[in-house]
Amino acid sequence: ARLHRAFENSDFTLQYQPQISTQDNTVIGVEALLRWTPADLPPVLPTEFIPILEETGLIVPVGTWVLHRACHQAVAWQQAGLPRMRLSVNISAVQFQRGDLGETVRMILAETGLDPALLCLELTESMLMIDTAHTRQKLQQLRDLGVSLSLDDFGAGYSSLAYLSRLPVQELKIDQSFVRRLHDTPSDTAVVNTVIAMAQELGLTLVAEGVETEVQKSHLIGRGCTIIQGFLFCKPLPPDQLALFVSRGKCDEP
Ligand code: C2E
Ligand code: MG
Ligand code: MG
Repeated sequence: ARLHRAFENSDFTLQYQPQISTQDNTVIGVEALLRWTPADLPPVLPTEFIPILEETGLIVPVGTWVLHRACHQAVAWQQAGLPRMRLSVNISAVQFQRGDLGETVRMILAETGLDPALLCLELTESMLMIDTAHTRQKLQQLRDLGVSLSLDDFGAGYSSLAYLSRLPVQELKIDQSFVRRLHDTPSDTAVVNTVIAMAQELGLTLVAEGVETEVQKSHLIGRGCTIIQGFLFCKPLPPDQLALFVSRGKCDEP
């Protein structure tokens, strides 16, 4: 009930976390992340409220709002003179299965005027496990709009190598848990190295998220990972602070 009211009262906001190119240390993109700060309660974590949005089906309208808000913001940044940046938006499995995502994305691109080449949709493995012709057709419909597709949290679920080669995804985001455990044990390090090498062989972009230390960063760069996201560079920020970060190249404390 509170989430229903939050949506009606526009109590949701978005924060944006920079994605850094390791080649020249510039911000090449941002990931939009949903925030809920109820007036009468402490902020609730997305990992707590998003499953409820999914159970209640509210994720479909809220997800459409996220897409619209984020695309609009990306265009506003460009108009304010910020460099061209990619925008990544998380898509829930429920949104992918229930809503007409292709049509929603097409309309939002038309309304906001965002270049489709700048929009990247982050999908999770679980929604693609249902590897039917229908799933492939829906993904292709999104690709035909000119947006790119990324597999979020790769390696955390039942990663199937069969679908990786068949589905039209362009990017892998290695799951944070592997980055966090990098150097804990030789096998954790081996998993990270192997996922990076596999992405390279398959011609996919690899993004490492959850990077918190210089040691993790150097290891990833040494293995050829070119895009890094994590608290080491910057936390998710409100839009005005993100613009400052991009133009000044440093992170203001939230
Ligand atoms: P995700 O898509 O994998 O997003 C990355 C999460 O890692 C974000 O958590 C981000 O704040 C956090 N993170 C980034 N760098 C670091 C780091 O260096 N260390 C640590 N410990 N964490 C880091 P957040 O914002 O709490 O979101 C959690 C999850 O909620 C997201 O995981 C995503 O699955 C979901 N989510 C967030 N916003 C949306 C949305 O608009 N729609 C949908 N469907 N899901 C969303
Ligand atoms: Mg994500
Ligand atoms: Mg992730």
